[in-house]
Amino acid sequence: MSRRRTEAPGGRAGRVTAALAPVAAVAAAHIVPAATWLPRLRVRCFPRLAGTGRPDHVALTFDDGPDPVSTPHFLDELDRLSVRATFFVLGERVTRYPELARHIARRGHELAVHGWTHSRPWLPAPGRDLRETARAADVLYGTTGCRPRWYRPPYGILTSGRWTAARRAGLRPVLWTAWGRDWTPGATPATVRTTVLADLRGGGTVLLHDSDHVSSPGSWRAALAALPALIGTCHDRGWTVGPLAEHGLDRRP
Ligand SMILES: [Zn+2]
Repeated sequence: MSRRRTEAPGGRAGRVTAALAPVAAVAAAHIVPAATWLPRLRVRCFPRLAGTGRPDHVALTFDDGPDPVSTPHFLDELDRLSVRATFFVLGERVTRYPELARHIARRGHELAVHGWTHSRPWLPAPGRDLRETARAADVLYGTTGCRPRWYRPPYGILTSGRWTAARRAGLRPVLWTAWGRDWTPGATPATVRTTVLADLRGGGTVLLHDSDHVSSPGSWRAALAALPALIGTCHDRGWTVGPLAEHGLDRRP
């Protein structure tokens, strides 16, 4: 029989367990809200967080830009299709490409906060979450003159720290109801369109990427080429396509 099994509750093992309990509680408080990342759970249990809006509308959103290589192609294609969208941008990249960020706004699109950098929140860092989210919102406002309303964390992992930071910055977290898996190496326009439409309903929010900054090189081309057929299908189904600002969501954070 092991020492662990014979140890009395108040023995060394008990003391170690007691010492670790606050750590476990902090870890759970940090990561449990991130379970909203699970798409089906999110759509069913947290429709507002998933971005479920008015049923005759589909919100089109792009993450990870701005990117001087790829974003201008999306702006041209969206112009051609007469569609406006929401771009969730990274604050650090807005400081690097401020003119491009202004250009997105001038072309009639909405900008929103995707974080300062595209980091993974494995360890709780509430202070950094607060600083970086507020900084990203401030930089977006200072650069474009428009105050951002929405927040989507990198990888869609909404920890308790990020949730709090978004609310303090006056931002409302919005994830997505349908994605195109356009960041994967084998993505094609057809797979992107099929993947989005498998989960898309009226009132849904679509996630695509206008940059390969953190995904497979050149993957943005599949998302770009998927747009005409995807938007055409939405129109055939009686849904208008536009930014989150027109999606009928409550804007309060
Ligand atoms: Zn991202």
